[in-house]
Amino acid sequence: MTYKKKPSWLRMPSRGSEEAAKVRSILRKYSLDTVCRQAMCPNLGHCFGRGTATFLILGNQCTRSCRYCAIERSEGVLAEPDINEPLRLAEAAAEMKLSYVIITSVTRDDLPDGGAGHFARTVEAVRKMIPVARIEVLTPDFRGSEEALKVIADAGPDVFNHNLETVERLFPDVRPEAYYRLSLEVLESYGRLSPSTPRKSGLMLGLGETKSEIRSSLEDLREKGVTMLTLGQYLQPSRSHWPVDRYVTPEEFDAWKDEALSMGFVSVASAPLVRSSFHADEQ
Ligand code: SF4
Repeated sequence: MTYKKKPSWLRMPSRGSEEAAKVRSILRKYSLDTVCRQAMCPNLGHCFGRGTATFLILGNQCTRSCRYCAIERSEGVLAEPDINEPLRLAEAAAEMKLSYVIITSVTRDDLPDGGAGHFARTVEAVRKMIPVARIEVLTPDFRGSEEALKVIADAGPDVFNHNLETVERLFPDVRPEAYYRLSLEVLESYGRLSPSTPRKSGLMLGLGETKSEIRSSLEDLREKGVTMLTLGQYLQPSRSHWPVDRYVTPEEFDAWKDEALSMGFVSVASAPLVRSSFHADEQ
């Protein structure tokens, strides 16, 4: 499998800044991981340089194997959630002076609650440590469990994010253990559980979807009451991952932003290097 040559607009921001080094040392000090590093995010240097990061809880091995994802798939029994992780994360966020804290995780289908309790304890620890900070959770689908979603809603994050990642037709190939309709239900259920909490979702473009499929997915998200959206370019982490079908131009991302805003999305980040948490504090 050959890589498609990347266009100029996918030039990655620098990685070397002093601020980025400080973020790395804080993460090491508190033995914390980030999806930025595990998912090989192209913006790592830029975001760390801004003093931000997206914390990855519940370990760095996943019970699923989405074909676009660089995170390691678990082969054996995974460790129980680390009960000290919520406090360590809150302390790291405080030391990083974060005003917007993003918490995500791998999917833990091996846990009875899918890790929802650990998510909630982490939100509560951050809330206690930095009362003024806004907290965004980017969660798995918890196999659609309303009980798990209620545990998170009760913890009261400021933004609930669950990504569709791609269009319905591509799910069986690209996200074999996930279901498009189930992910929409998760976003809808959370709206019932916490009507005032903004819901966010995102898609990667360039995996082989058509424009009308993208439009249908945006309409589906709006129908479920999602108001915040991210659209970014899919980048192939390795030759064994799903191939890039096309590189979407910045102009097309701008057009999608306009179209999404006209559909009623309140906040849209749409550009080649946009990721779920990219400049989320500004969204
Ligand atoms: S569920 Fe999430 S972390 Fe797991 S493989 Fe899929 S995208 Fe990666």
